[in-house]
Amino acid sequence: MANKCIKCNNCGHVGWSKNRGNFLITIILLIFFFVPGVIYEIWRRTGLGVCENCGSDLVQPSSACTSNRPSDVGDLIVLGVLGVIGSIVVVVLYALADSGINAFKNRNAPAPQLSQRELEGSCLRSGMVYYQKQGQYPILGDGKTLALDKIQIDCKGSKDGKYKAP
Ligand SMILES: [Zn+2]
Repeated sequence: MANKCIKCNNCGHVGWSKNRGNFLITIILLIFFFVPGVIYEIWRRTGLGVCENCGSDLVQPSSACTSNRPSDVGDLIVLGVLGVIGSIVVVVLYALADSGINAFKNRNAPAPQLSQRELEGSCLRSGMVYYQKQGQYPILGDGKTLALDKIQIDCKGSKDGKYKAP
């Protein structure tokens, strides 16, 4: 942990050291890249820290500090809140990415294939409609052939489910 009593070799100041780096960078890293933000904040808190007067890292341990050691509990509260927000953001982003990928997959999926049985059934229905309109249902114009028999033969192996009138 930083926050140690140090003597600065740069300006001669004796006092409690500050964390290295910049808390703002931690916040930005946490928001956009959660894990590097945590690593950066851990790095900030290791070592002796930097001089609170001039920001130099040319410091050496000292026992001459007279004031009380400052608390960085405020930083920790902000970090805790950001950690919670960060994990929510990560979960939301994963959910969004997931639904985005699914939408993409569905868009590229081929139209559902009708089975041969369904195609022939559909052809049969349109064939019946056709002969009803022609006034040749249920018996064809020759007066002896059942329309349904002919439709069934014509629809065998139908590729598109439509009845093709002869
Ligand atoms: Zn200094």
